[in-house]
Amino acid sequence: MAIKKVWIEEGCTACGLCESICPEVFVVEDEATVIDGVDFSQYESEIIDSAESCPVEVIKYDEKPD
Ligand code: SF4
Repeated sequence: MAIKKVWIEEGCTACGLCESICPEVFVVEDEATVIDGVDFSQYESEIIDSAESCPVEVIKYDEKPD
């Protein structure tokens, strides 16, 4: 696994969990956003943990870039 792309689908409830797990990648204001320019490969376990922990399962990631 080498995560190249991370995004948030519609439905985020802004619970803040992803930012608390991995503030290097996620910022939560009105809803969660992915910080631009991050080397996701350094935070793979935290990204996967965030996606699995998100209560509405809107955090997605892919091994391929756009
Ligand atoms: S964990 Fe999910 S619902 Fe919570 S802020 Fe992050 S993306 Fe939104």
